[in-house]
Amino acid sequence: MPALLLALGATGCEYSFDPIAAEATSFYPPSEYAQIWQDMVICTGFDFTRVSYQDVKWYRTSDECVYNPDHRTNDGCAAGLAWVEDNIIVLPDRSINDVMVVRHEIIHLLSGQRHHLGNYWDCVYWEAP
Ligand SMILES: [Zn+2]
Repeated sequence: MPALLLALGATGCEYSFDPIAAEATSFYPPSEYAQIWQDMVICTGFDFTRVSYQDVKWYRTSDECVYNPDHRTNDGCAAGLAWVEDNIIVLPDRSINDVMVVRHEIIHLLSGQRHHLGNYWDCVYWEAP
């Protein structure tokens, strides 16, 4: 798995998302994201939905990276970040059309987990039946 996909999802416990510090702005997600969300609900089995698609707050940044203080590789440069407790996903512009990054961050929110344990992470590579 490419290291960039291993961005940890920071939680609101230790860090709170600061759009100004992150130079991020909110954006209306591409319509494809609703389908990606649904695909990940099906694949992961997290159908109890701790969070619904409408609850997600999307942010984008023109920076190459989203800085993640937990990220142990690449100097904290992440291809995307999820703030699980705040239902926030932040994407650099370069990741907005990268379905695997979008899936990855969605799985953080669906699972409510910041870690990368569990078979459901394989859903990043899911192919619709
Ligand atoms: Zn992650």
